[in-house]
Amino acid sequence: MKLILLGAPGSGKGTQAAYISDKYDLPHISTGDLFRENIKEKTPLGLKVKAVMDTGNLCPDDLTVELVKDRLNNADCKVGYLLDGFPRDLVQAVALDEISAPDKVINLVVDLSKIEHRITGRRSCQFCGGSFHVDFIGNVDNCPTCGEKLTIRKDDNPETVKERLDVYQTQTAPLIEYYSKQGKLININGDQSIDKVFEDIVKVL
Ligand code: AMP
Repeated sequence: MKLILLGAPGSGKGTQAAYISDKYDLPHISTGDLFRENIKEKTPLGLKVKAVMDTGNLCPDDLTVELVKDRLNNADCKVGYLLDGFPRDLVQAVALDEISAPDKVINLVVDLSKIEHRITGRRSCQFCGGSFHVDFIGNVDNCPTCGEKLTIRKDDNPETVKERLDVYQTQTAPLIEYYSKQGKLININGDQSIDKVFEDIVKVL
């Protein structure tokens, strides 16, 4: 199965991707995570994209498509893939159709006026990859899952969130129509509990 998770920043793609990948044994490929790993390791790619990521804008299409193409060549993608955060614009969507077209596109629909709250309350664990919201775990320092220190993503601040939302609306939202025309789009209400969103996704897969 080849799946895309579409949705605004902070709509819960990463959280749902972890559940889906686990249940259906699909490799979870998050371009945001891949870029962050490259930045952490100070690779040539990481050095190229760091500044643009800090502003909330998209990394160049050619670098992003190449990154995904390489990743999809790995043996674990023989069974399919679960893409999270890719494609982010029409150029990338067309490129993916040429590389390995998706079967289904799950679009997490959330109230955009609540995105800033969803993102600025987000806490991430670099160790186990967990992502949480202070509304649910409180203002704690350590990861409720593995106990390691929680961090706030550098781009999860109010100024950058505004830019990321603009980018989403102008560049990513047109993909809803693109995949709808291909008959692949499935809308899921993302403004529900994590468990209910996952239950709705399982129903349509
Ligand atoms: P995310 O973790 O998906 O929220 O992505 C964080 C940042 O990584 C984005 O704001 C972009 O700067 C960059 N990024 C992630 N995925 C893509 C993509 N498909 N195309 C371009 N830039 C991306």
